[in-house]
Amino acid sequence: MPDSQLRVNQRGIARTLVVAMILFSSLITLVATAIQLYRDYQRDLLLIDSQLQQIQDSHQRSLASSLWLLDEDGMQLIVDGIIQLPDILYVEVRDDEKIRASGGQWQTDNVIEREYNLVHEDSGQRIGMITAVATLENLYQRLIDKTVDILVSNAIKTFLVAGFMLLFFHFLVTRHLITIASFIRSQTLDSKSEELRLNRKQNKADNADELDLVVEELNIMRSSLHRSYLTLKESETRHRDLFDMMAQGVIYRDQQGAIVSANNAAREILGLSLGQMQGKEDLSSEWRAIYENGEPIQDAAFPSTLTLRLEEPVDDFVMGVFHPGEKRYRWILVSSKPWNPSADGAEKLAFSTFTDITRRKQADQEREQLIRELEIKNAELERFVYTISHELKAPLVTIAGFSGYLIDNVTANRKEKLSDDIMHINSAVKTMSTLLDELIEVARIGGVPESYEDISMSDLASRVVESIRSDPSLPEVWIEIAQDLPSVHGSYRQLEKVLRNLLENAIKFSEPGRAPLIKIGVRRQEEEDVVFVQDNGIGIDPAYHERIFTLFERLDPSIGGTGVGLAIVHRVIEQHGGRVWAESQGEGSGSTFFIAFPRQQLDQVAS
Ligand code: ADP
Repeated sequence: MPDSQLRVNQRGIARTLVVAMILFSSLITLVATAIQLYRDYQRDLLLIDSQLQQIQDSHQRSLASSLWLLDEDGMQLIVDGIIQLPDILYVEVRDDEKIRASGGQWQTDNVIEREYNLVHEDSGQRIGMITAVATLENLYQRLIDKTVDILVSNAIKTFLVAGFMLLFFHFLVTRHLITIASFIRSQTLDSKSEELRLNRKQNKADNADELDLVVEELNIMRSSLHRSYLTLKESETRHRDLFDMMAQGVIYRDQQGAIVSANNAAREILGLSLGQMQGKEDLSSEWRAIYENGEPIQDAAFPSTLTLRLEEPVDDFVMGVFHPGEKRYRWILVSSKPWNPSADGAEKLAFSTFTDITRRKQADQEREQLIRELEIKNAELERFVYTISHELKAPLVTIAGFSGYLIDNVTANRKEKLSDDIMHINSAVKTMSTLLDELIEVARIGGVPESYEDISMSDLASRVVESIRSDPSLPEVWIEIAQDLPSVHGSYRQLEKVLRNLLENAIKFSEPGRAPLIKIGVRRQEEEDVVFVQDNGIGIDPAYHERIFTLFERLDPSIGGTGVGLAIVHRVIEQHGGRVWAESQGEGSGSTFFIAFPRQQLDQVAS
């Protein structure tokens, strides 16, 4: 919570109140004083007026008779008497000729002047005039004195009351307001503090004043704020946990496209830290995103960028993101929606969720690969069945043909031809039997599970060579076996057959008139060890180096055989995870058959 920048000013409420009170009180005093003075003024004016009137009432007649008699002393005596009256400044009695008696000082400023005619009582004739001048200066002086008295006494009274009010108000209100302010300032939402208590007498509930009410309401507000804060915090924690624990990745982007937030799953799936996503840390140069066809996705085509630009959702967008830690692509299924979290809708975000579909995608790819392989195998099987039926048909045709001859010759009693017919039928049956045996052998590879073991190719080669040498149906040949043939993990029975096939071919396809020379050797390559069987026989045209491995393929039908041997070799080696191929410069230049075993398999054996 930010600290308040406010400081109570010099005046404060109490002082402002007191100043206002002084001003108002002064104003009231001034108005009241003015009214009072005005009334005093009126009263004094009346008083002066009545004194002047008294001159007329009391002295007009006697002065008139003194003037008629020209009794100047008498008139002067009366005038002197009048002058004694308060506020009477000057009196003169005159007839038409001159002033007969006068008293006091003539003045023109701040005076009231009255003239009374003197009339002869009997004749009613005007004989003179009294001029009386009353001064207002005394009246003004009295008013000034009174004003000063009122103002001074009121000022003293007001200042005393104000001082008292200042202290009393501070004691009663302002010091508590300061306590309340510092209490509010000390409040933090996350910890529950003591209740607010003021340093004053506690009023009973039915006798509470405004401060009690404020304190009570503040304490209620503090409790309810604290409760609301805890509820909000708990809800926030729950949502944050959910956000971080969900398996789906979630990312928020702001209007400018900057990532505001990302959950744990998003970081794990993308292989990026939040700092990297927010651009605060360097993004690995390896990081990139691709479409399913492998083409790179530009920033503008990202689902969240599209959502921000078009303000529309983007659903089920599949993309690959390179995981810098795992050095491979993770495939994700992304949905992006526009989101306005602020009440006024001013803040526009893109809310993207994504699921890691790498495994599903791999499974899909594996399934597709399997389907492709199955299709190839099916096509292979079709060809295989076709080839087999074709190959089996030949001896059957022979048998059928010679059976017919046999019947004809028996009927015609041509005994000399019978043994020839039977010989042909026999030979066809033998061919068919051999073919069927070899086909069974081909079918068995991969079908019947073989027990695998560690096999020393040197031992295996020695045994096969020995059995060939001891076979009377085979000619004597020179076979050389290299010392350092590798060991492999595989089926002894099948690998023996492979070696025997290759060696028998090397003998069978030797160049007529040239003593067969055969070598079993090894060529070590980086990831595999290659065993080879080399001969100096008739050689193979490079055009046929691959074809000879297909079933029933024979390059020279005049040389005996079924064309199954190399197909068996190929299938066995493939079954062992290796590969086989033939090399030859062409006819008459000998041939070499290579069998490569992967190094991993060899290491397994070594360990
Ligand atoms: P078969 O030996 O029964 O004819 P194979 O499948 O073993 O059948 O061999 C297929 C064909 O490959 C042979 O008919 C032959 O034409 C050719 N061939 C195999 N081995 C050699 C070799 N060492 N030298 C020359 N040609 C060979």
